Amino acid sequence: MNDGTKIPKNPRDAALAYAALGIKVFRVRRSKAPYANCPRCDKQSSVYTPHRPEECQCQVPTCHGFWAATTDPSLIHKWWTEEPDANVGAPCKLNGWAVLDIDPRNGGHTSFAALEQRVGVLPSTTMAVTGGDGLHIFYLSPGFDLPGEPFPGIDFKHNGYVLLAPSVHSSGNRYQWAGSANRFQVPVAAWPKTLLPRKEKPRVPGQPRRQQSLSGIRRPGKQWTVDALVQHVMDAGEGNRNASLYFAACRAHETAEQGALDLYEAETALANAGQAVGLTAGETIATIQSAARRTADHTWAAA
Ligand SMILES: [Zn+2]
Ligand SMILES: [Zn+2]
Repeated sequence: MNDGTKIPKNPRDAALAYAALGIKVFRVRRSKAPYANCPRCDKQSSVYTPHRPEECQCQVPTCHGFWAATTDPSLIHKWWTEEPDANVGAPCKLNGWAVLDIDPRNGGHTSFAALEQRVGVLPSTTMAVTGGDGLHIFYLSPGFDLPGEPFPGIDFKHNGYVLLAPSVHSSGNRYQWAGSANRFQVPVAAWPKTLLPRKEKPRVPGQPRRQQSLSGIRRPGKQWTVDALVQHVMDAGEGNRNASLYFAACRAHETAEQGALDLYEAETALANAGQAVGLTAGETIATIQSAARRTADHTWAAA
């Protein structure tokens, strides 16, 4: 393991240092008040065009909160020159992270001790001490959403964002990287297997399965297997990778709905396949999630 990167004390230089490591950052006001969206992206506006934040094409680089996160040094320079004290935020999912957030105000330390007693000591990884005496433990995202607040004072952050050092916590103290000299290691440890949700319950035998898939596409001739779905992604041409991944992820949901494959296994395999064909972790996860949303009709929270 190398010594990591020394993170400067100045928020702008810190944001630039993270970006240079490939981490997407955005500014967060100390008050947490969001930056205004442009009229096209503002739900209150008469010219609002409905769209998902991840599909925004307005080109305004502050719309939709953390969806605006960037590694572009000139944009980062501009943001923190305008507001030198702004905190440094990093969206979890878009950076390929899932973060275990332990908040002592709600009994997080007690819950965490109980959790480690039950599942064993968690794999060591990048950790931050929040200004509020809490802990952020950084793992790579497992590629799907995790249950929020599984235990009192512990949150699995995936859809949201975290503040990075040297951001200032509401207590007035700064976030710091754990260990000596506040050095930052890019997270590389996988999300602990012991913290994965249990697999989907098997279908009760004799219970009629739903005939029509939610997407309305039925393929009675083809029974997809995980291998076939992975192959479909691997076969995709350069300009077609995202669409193929999306297609495969939709089929995975439909097939899982029929009880014919394990969704967790399929999504994990597709996440790996997406990255194997050159999509970033963030793109892969976003695509798999939008397939999940389409199939499950989840509503997304506007950032
Ligand atoms: Zn916009
Ligand atoms: Zn937009």
